[in-house]
Amino acid sequence: MSANWSGTVNFRDALRVAPSSVEELQELASKSARVRARGSAHCFNDIADTSATAITFENMPSEIEINKESKTVRVPAGMKYGELAVALHDRGWAIHNMASLPHISIAGAVATATHGSGVGNGNLATAVESLELVLPDGSLKRISKGDARFEGYVVGLGLTGVVVNLDLAIEPTFNIAQTVYRGMSRESYAANLDEIMSLAYSVSYFTTWAAAGGGEVWAKFKSGTTAPTELFEAYPATSNRHPLPGLNPEPCTEQMALSGPWHLRLPHFKMEFTPSAGDEIQSEFFVARNRDPRHCRR
Ligand SMILES: Cc1cc2nc3c(=O)[nH]c(=O)nc-3n(C[C@H](O)[C@H](O)[C@H](O)COP(=O)(O)OP(=O)(O)OC[C@H]3O[C@@H](n4cnc5c(N)ncnc54)[C@H](O)[C@@H]3O)c2cc1C
Repeated sequence: MSANWSGTVNFRDALRVAPSSVEELQELASKSARVRARGSAHCFNDIADTSATAITFENMPSEIEINKESKTVRVPAGMKYGELAVALHDRGWAIHNMASLPHISIAGAVATATHGSGVGNGNLATAVESLELVLPDGSLKRISKGDARFEGYVVGLGLTGVVVNLDLAIEPTFNIAQTVYRGMSRESYAANLDEIMSLAYSVSYFTTWAAAGGGEVWAKFKSGTTAPTELFEAYPATSNRHPLPGLNPEPCTEQMALSGPWHLRLPHFKMEFTPSAGDEIQSEFFVARNRDPRHCRR
């Protein structure tokens, strides 16, 4: 890859290497002045770029190892969440959450604290129990929950070494049913923020700057919970939706309250499609829930 996913960053790598074993990676690190790990290159900014040696993971082994006693799975750094999800579900397991798309690498997503949705769900980095890194001198370091500076190594932005594998917390597989509520005005959303965001296991609100007809609430209900037939005068869609108005919903995960495996509902987009509307760039703006729009107006 010579550029990031959206084509907004052209990589300047002096050298790009795809080692096929941890030992090869260790030797490379020890002999190079500087290296930079790169996952699936989805970052919109230039943190995966380097003028030195870029390390990519497509040639590394892709096996996972489940530990039923500790309820963890050891995953290779470059594996994509969508690939892990299928392997876990087939064996009766799940991870607690996924981002809007399953195409991102596990180490790259964890390194940037990529998040899914749900008021009770930590971001994807919170599932990390331990990780193993290659340090600049080529040595291996395992760091686990409870160790000093653990959180800093987990959300390390690629600065603390090259992660080669991670242990993630797992739970028994579960089903999700997704309902999209249409016609949610920004005023109604702001007035009922806590209730709407706590409605389901995972909830997202999509609107536009010019959403005269209101936005949409995408609610993902865990099996055993029921979707209401009305949500503050917003109503379930009668056909599949795409988060961007007017786009074909084919790349989007199953909706219309059809229950199915967690990994085919928690992301907004299916693994087998590229969820692109063309040239795009995203940025995120974090606001604490107790600073919701009602409080800001005061
Ligand atoms: C269409 C789209 C949708 C997105 N949706 C969401 C979303 O729902 N929620 C959200 O929070 N974010 C979202 N993102 C952002 C995305 O999750 C982050 O950019 C994430 O870092 C992508 O992972 P990656 O593997 O592509 O990382 P890269 O872009 O390849 O790298 C990101 C960082 O991780 C480091 N890194 C990668 N691999 C390793 C490794 N093995 N060891 C050490 N460091 C490493 C790199 O050095 C770099 O600093 C989205 C991005 C796109 C393009």
